[in-house]
Amino acid sequence: MTFLLLRKQKSARVALVMRHCTPRARVEVDLDAIAHNLNVARQAAPNTQMMAVVKADAYGHGMEAVVRRLEGEQPVYFGVANVAEARRVTAVGCRTRPFLLGPSTPEEREEIAYSGWGFTISSMEEAEHFSRIAAAAGSVLPAHLALDTGMGREGFLPNDLGESLPRLLHMPALRIEGVMSHMPVADEDENFSRHQIAVFEECVHEISRHIHLLHVHLAASAAIMRYRIPSANMARPGLMLYGISPVADSASADQLRPALRLVATVTLVRTLPAGHGVSYGRTFTTTAPTRMATIGIGYADGWRRHFSGRGVRVSIRGVLCPVLGRVTMDQIMADVSGVPEVMAGDEVELIGPSLRVDQLAQQADTISWDILTGLGPRLPRVTHPAS
Ligand SMILES: *Cc1c(COP(=O)(O)O)cnc(C)c1O
Repeated sequence: MTFLLLRKQKSARVALVMRHCTPRARVEVDLDAIAHNLNVARQAAPNTQMMAVVKADAYGHGMEAVVRRLEGEQPVYFGVANVAEARRVTAVGCRTRPFLLGPSTPEEREEIAYSGWGFTISSMEEAEHFSRIAAAAGSVLPAHLALDTGMGREGFLPNDLGESLPRLLHMPALRIEGVMSHMPVADEDENFSRHQIAVFEECVHEISRHIHLLHVHLAASAAIMRYRIPSANMARPGLMLYGISPVADSASADQLRPALRLVATVTLVRTLPAGHGVSYGRTFTTTAPTRMATIGIGYADGWRRHFSGRGVRVSIRGVLCPVLGRVTMDQIMADVSGVPEVMAGDEVELIGPSLRVDQLAQQADTISWDILTGLGPRLPRVTHPAS
């Protein structure tokens, strides 16, 4: 009896202290910035509807919160990669439907059809299967025809359209209501991209001779910021929604507001003597007595081991401090000689206003998409405003 009472008091006290304990590493997300960035995309592509791409947990920002915030901005669709993500969008309970960006597997198709999610068809096999599912349910399914104008990943080849299109148009329970394609080098090869846009325009023109198209879409972020696509009435911004520009030379780039801060906490500060190794492999050795902070984040959080030894820095009390030695699973070490007042409990910024993810990507020889979507589930997402 007494024991039980004690336990009860204890758990109340634990609950109290738990509330005061901020996660030592977390992702902070500015939802208003994401809404703002959607409107930057709208200005960059006037008179164009938006499919807000929220795949991969909204590029690491937290899908549910992003979907809830963007719903009010009235995108036409939420772009997702697979059925599990489409379910998550649906579960939020908003009116905007998910759209599956790539081809579907045979066993996913019934759920896609019955749920009324947007989807593409990339082959006759896929089209015929969807048509059979719809016919069995006594309905007609709207689909977006995917074209492979150069990506080599999905879609009908433009040269095959002459043969495929009549067959697609005569499918009993499938109705083509959209045409889409995707650009592989919108951020780097203007000649190819212009050629690709021309091929897309020609295909859309041909298809439009037979049917009315509700949605025509080609551009992801880079193309939204760089190209006009005359026939398109929808675009699919992903990266730019999160405030990162895939292209440097664009008027919209300066208007984007990065939405994510990656924050961790100093757990220990000490001075290591000269000649002391730092981290696994002893790839770094101090050359002088060095004030060193241990920070509670590592590759298990998505702070890649690959960032080791590449001159990556983190910000503590507004000072950029070099990360030294290898990234370990849960901890990294930084030289804080430049910040004498640093102590355990201090906040460390790893991605944020002074540490842009695209710069980090360049240092680490990868791309912003890779770093953002790699931020792991161990990092709680803290949103502003709360969602
Ligand atoms: C992921 C994806 C997008 C979004 O791309 P960003 O470059 O992040 O804007 C758009 N369309 C398709 C088909 C995609 O797979």
